[in-house]
Amino acid sequence: MPADESEQRMEFMLTLRQRGIGDQAVLRAMDAVPREHFIEARFADSAYADQAMPIACGQTISQPYVVAYMTEQLQVRPNHRVLEVGTGSGYQAAVLSRLAREVVTIERYRTLANSARARLKTLGYTNVEVLLGDGFGGEPLRAPYDRIIVTAAAESIPPALTAQLADGGIMILPLGPHGGTQELVKLTNTGQGLTRETLIPVRFVPLLPGQAKEL
Ligand code: SAH
Repeated sequence: MPADESEQRMEFMLTLRQRGIGDQAVLRAMDAVPREHFIEARFADSAYADQAMPIACGQTISQPYVVAYMTEQLQVRPNHRVLEVGTGSGYQAAVLSRLAREVVTIERYRTLANSARARLKTLGYTNVEVLLGDGFGGEPLRAPYDRIIVTAAAESIPPALTAQLADGGIMILPLGPHGGTQELVKLTNTGQGLTRETLIPVRFVPLLPGQAKEL
């Protein structure tokens, strides 16, 4: 690793700590996943800058702070099975895979699903399964999930997802109008119903219905 890259990675970890990420397991996972492999080569120089970046199909890889924050709020334990809706580059799934037993992630673009699957395999993330499909419906065949994370903004809470959340499970999703300011919402399944907590304002690409017609 060239000296400036290791410096950038130290800066990256420092920024996460300064912004309030305190969970050591989450910090270790963020430190371990090589973000440069999840972005386009032309952005390689800023792989460790705390910013979102464009990926294929007009989508984005999230800002590292938001990835770390959502992961921390999700309180993932080593025995957990996690569902992610919105694979994108596979970066968030890779971070989760270092903390969970198993990650199932769904993407509506074939191009993104295929490249994320190949990338995760090459990098050795064997406990992640990438599915092509419409994440609004989750994946009932593998439900229930201990944790669910949605990484695209929904205008309302998709009922199929909360139905697939285990008792005691936690789900995090950005909620709000497409293109506007959304809020991260944390839902907990108490067994008797869902409790809801509002976290921070965020901006995500929209959660759209159906498998994408384009590649
Ligand atoms: N978690 C990703 C970033 C996600 S960007 C990463 O770490 O890189 C949001 C992704 O959600 C996009 O790739 C978009 O195509 C996908 N998406 C939007 N609506 C979806 C749906 N209904 N089902 C599955 N994926 C969806």
